Amino acid sequence: MGIAFTALLLFPRFVVYFGLVSYIVAYFLLSGLTVFGCLDYAMAYKPYILLHKDVQNTQIVYSMFYTTLYAAFTITLFDISVERWRRYNSKIEKLSCTDELTSLLNRRGVNQIIDLQMQQAQITHRETSLIMVDIDNFKKINDQYGHHQGDLVLKHVADILRRNLRASDVIGRYGGEEFVILLPFTLIENAVAVAEVCRKALEQSAIEVNETEFIYVQACFGVSSTVHSGFDYMSLFEQADKALYEAKHNGKNQVRTVHAR
Ligand code: GH3
Ligand code: MG
Ligand code: MG
Repeated sequence: MGIAFTALLLFPRFVVYFGLVSYIVAYFLLSGLTVFGCLDYAMAYKPYILLHKDVQNTQIVYSMFYTTLYAAFTITLFDISVERWRRYNSKIEKLSCTDELTSLLNRRGVNQIIDLQMQQAQITHRETSLIMVDIDNFKKINDQYGHHQGDLVLKHVADILRRNLRASDVIGRYGGEEFVILLPFTLIENAVAVAEVCRKALEQSAIEVNETEFIYVQACFGVSSTVHSGFDYMSLFEQADKALYEAKHNGKNQVRTVHAR
């Protein structure tokens, strides 16, 4: 049983259950053969025989069912506990990588996933692009409409970005009003086009404050790609950040890339 418990912690469930079922089948077979006299008691129940010289068939049958039921019950209980513990852990893990306000990945989540994606891009030698997004004049929105309305604007921006990206794209809230998007296996010119689509979608959407007042939000987009930065995560970020800085200083509400091809 100890082996079954350890196996449940280490291996996938189906492997453990397959092992257990095989064990029970062998056990029943051995016991059956012993009961029907095809096997010597001493062969099948050697350790038991050493302790109890006069083993009866009824004892073997009783032990067969008792042991199987007892094992099935305790192993199932243990399995349920392990499964709950695993689910709880993955929930905690998910929460620690999620931004509470927008439900996007937070900085930690973004860093983890982008790191993995970059390794994949490096192995396959496929261009991967990164977009950094920063809302324009967000402080003014907060000052004018209040922090709560500012939060609603952040949610709105997150929704617009999500709606305009593919399921395979990685999107996260990197800081206060900054978002980061990784476009796996995407050429920089395509990433620029995606950023432009998002920029326009944002510009054209409005957030209703009340029946007469609407907030129009704009943002800058800095785009970089592994073609220019290599498969180095930090320099990919640095280049997107530099492009974002240029977009801010060039009049805002625009998409920029450091290296135009
Ligand atoms: P720029 O166009 O140059 O990007 O200016 P900006 O006003 O957008 O940028 P700045 O860095 O001056 O201000 C960002 C503001 O974002 C300041 C901070 O109070 C606000 N902020 C950061 N996190 C949150 C948040 O979670 N909710 C709200 N409502 N505001 C936030
Ligand atoms: Mg900012
Ligand atoms: Mg800003």
